[in-house]
Amino acid sequence: MLPLLSFLKWLSSGLLLCLTLCLLGMPTWAISATCPTLALEMKAVAPRVWLKPADPHAASGWREPTVVWVNNHDIWVLDPGPHRCAGLALRGWLARRWPDLPQRLINSHAHPENVLANAAWPLGTPIYALAETKTEMAWRCPDCLATLRRTLGEAWTQGTEIILPNRVLQAGQVLHLGGLPWEVMAHTQAHTESHLSLWQPTQRIWIPVGLVAWDGLPDGTRSHAKAWQAALQDMAQRQPQHIWGAADTRLSLHRWLDTRWYWQAVMQQLQDLQAQGQSVLEALPRLSIPPHLSTPDLSPERATARHQQNLLREWQHLENEDF
Ligand SMILES: [Zn+2]
Repeated sequence: MLPLLSFLKWLSSGLLLCLTLCLLGMPTWAISATCPTLALEMKAVAPRVWLKPADPHAASGWREPTVVWVNNHDIWVLDPGPHRCAGLALRGWLARRWPDLPQRLINSHAHPENVLANAAWPLGTPIYALAETKTEMAWRCPDCLATLRRTLGEAWTQGTEIILPNRVLQAGQVLHLGGLPWEVMAHTQAHTESHLSLWQPTQRIWIPVGLVAWDGLPDGTRSHAKAWQAALQDMAQRQPQHIWGAADTRLSLHRWLDTRWYWQAVMQQLQDLQAQGQSVLEALPRLSIPPHLSTPDLSPERATARHQQNLLREWQHLENEDF
């Protein structure tokens, strides 16, 4: 009996050791067996640049665009996604193509859909953001993560932790990505309190990230319409030839124009009410979304609710300006 017990003990400790070594030797992006299947379709948009387009219906919650540039010596990722599972899928895609290139991340703004996948990269990976965005993330990410867990569930959000940026970007700073210079544009109170977009001046490519409403209807929860309008107007004066974010060029352009036009329509509705001496609270039940706005990615109820919230918020901003 004693030799049998000794043998079993030796066997179990050996298996444990083997398991530990296997895990240590395995790249972390490969330890994603328990994540739900995520079909990652990266679209080549220029030499050495890939886009995961915005997808308002993504069951994974990866609804915002992600951009990857491959340099000679490193890889840059703009907004890695909403959770660790998304980040692991992207790391797997990168590792199968460029296993030896170190990776750097950029966080455009403090929304969970864009940045919580930071958790999939090894600690110490360079993560760049505007200083104000980092502050916003530190303040908001705990609530954002809790909301994400509630809405997406544990299967998608497992292992997701809050990893804050550790490198600072400045407005006007130039990054050399995919063989071209890209200028960091900083926007305040447009979409969120602090938001960056990237501008490529020679080919006039703009990556607006959250400044364009990819589901067709802007959400002004954390913005001021005037500041958002000003940011869009500033970029319009640069006359972008290409906008990256949606599944194709035409839809990206369409969404950009819709976002600009929407805020104009909101301000016009509010000015009309003021001119008529009406309160937005009284008029709200009959104020629906502007008729020419296309919102196929939202239910009519959700679109109306978001629009009315936008009107209320902007009305409050106008009231505050008056005093
Ligand atoms: Zn956002």
